[in-house]
This record gives sequence, C-alpha cells and structure tokens, in this order.
Amino acid sequence: RIAYVNGRYLPHSDAAVHIEDRGFQFADGVYEVCEVRQGMIVDLTRHLTRLDRSLSELRMASPMSRAALTTVIREVLRRNRVRNGLFYLQITRGVARRDHYFPSQDTPLTVTITAKSTDPSIMTRKYANGIKVITVPENRWDRVDIKTVGLLPNVLAKQQAKEAGAQDAIFVDRNGIVLEGASSNVWIVTADGELVTRPAEYGILRGITRTTALDVTAKLGLTVVERDFKVDEMMAAREVFLTSATGICVPIVEIDGKPVANGHPGTASSAIRDAFFDVAEKTAI
Ligand code: PLP
Repeated sequence: RIAYVNGRYLPHSDAAVHIEDRGFQFADGVYEVCEVRQGMIVDLTRHLTRLDRSLSELRMASPMSRAALTTVIREVLRRNRVRNGLFYLQITRGVARRDHYFPSQDTPLTVTITAKSTDPSIMTRKYANGIKVITVPENRWDRVDIKTVGLLPNVLAKQQAKEAGAQDAIFVDRNGIVLEGASSNVWIVTADGELVTRPAEYGILRGITRTTALDVTAKLGLTVVERDFKVDEMMAAREVFLTSATGICVPIVEIDGKPVANGHPGTASSAIRDAFFDVAEKTAI
C-alpha cells in the first residue's frame, strides 16, 4: 500500500508524521472519508466543499487547490489499485513545538491521504440482516458540525457498542432527542409512515450521504421531514437506518437489546440504497 504524506508517495509502512504534529498532540485537524465504487469517487465535490468549511471553521487555509488535491487523491487511489473502497484524507495544523497557540503562519499544514479496497460482501451482509446498535448519552462538544479528528467520544461509544454485542452507537441528548450515530446520521420511518431525519443545522455533522439521500428521496417521490425525534419514537418506528459514506444506507434491527422494525430491514432504506449510486456525483479515478 502507498500513502501520500506532504508531497510524497511512500510505502504505507514508512508513512509517518512528526511526534510534534498538532494532529497527534491536540487533535488539531480535520478529515474526510470518501467512498469509491466501480472506479468512481462518490460525491467528491460535496466532500471537498465540506472539507473547505471544516478548515475555515478552524481558521486553517486550504493547503492546495481543489484541482491539485483531486489529482493527488486520484494518484493515491491508482497507486493502491482501488476500484471499490475508500480514501481517507487528513489535514492538521502542522508540526510545531507543543503550545496551544496557533503556530506561526508559515507552518505548513500536514496533508496525508491513504486508500484501501473494501470487501463488498461485508456490506451486503449488513444490508440483508440489518445491524444492532446501542444508544449513548451525548458527551461531545457543541461543534460536531466540524469534521475534526477529535473523535474520542465516538471511539468510546463504538467500543461500548462492540462490547455490548452491537455494531454501532447512537448519541442521544439529555432530553431524549436522537442526534446521530458515532459515524453516521440516523433516519426513521415512523409508525405513521413518515420518513424523518433530524435537522443538520446544529448538534450533528451534516453527512454528505444524508444530503445525497435527500436528493434520492426527492427523485423517488418520497417526502422527508427534517425534525427532531426522540428515542421512544425511534423504538416504535417501522424502520430505522443509518447513512454514511462507507455504509451508504444501513438498516437497524435492534436497539439497546430490543428489536425494532419487527427485527427486519425495511423498504425505504433499500429503495434509497438502490437509487443512491445513480443520483450521486461520480468522478472517475
Ligand atoms: N456523523 C458523524 C459523527 C460522522 O463521523 C459521519 C461520517 O463519518 C457521519 C455523520 C456521516 O457523514 P458522511 O455521510 O459524510 O459520511
């Protein structure tokens, strides 16, 4: 495997950053994960636009033009022969003696990109069987709209899920309002048949898959209501599913050890998934 590190393509095993990188010491950085399918990068423009927003919210400049970044991404995918898989792109505030204040303006940002192929049969199994999740109390900061590498609460939540025999965790606020998954957005089809996902103006990351899934529903003629919903409404829902770049649209069949949606994947999630790739932007490698 080959990784990109600040202008160089290196064997994955030799790809390293300095111990005083601010990503390492302060989680002072941002990232994106993008799906690759049939040799096409999915929704690249939206991912790079969100990356620009994350950088600007943290007052970091773009390290290179969008065209240059796209060239590097393609090169990493080509060198790793990825046809189906993903790339991971991370940008930190660079290397400097440890100090909370920003380093001097001329400190280069650290840009790293890795890519890997994934086994489609893992997702196929999740689509067919659905997954189990747990709910966890929200304990993150209030800027989760920025895609930063500060993911410790997400890491702890996912590990807790794994130890409970589940695959994922859903953050719930103190009022019982469902926020989002540890690396995904949450959707339900209510007992009344209403397709619902919570607003993305605050409290969650605005998932690119969420945005494109909204385009998909419009194309399918499905009405989506963006409103808050609580855990009890989710537990009584006909369907519960997660959207994320790597999973696209994954049905949930059990929450906190109790079956939801009669314990079966539903039709809304499969309809969105089936139409997703057609509607999404596709950029050839
Ligand atoms: N919410 C969180 C906290 C995430 O980490 C992610 C993706 O990693 C998402 C939502 C889904 O975003 P996307 O659809 O852009 O992958």
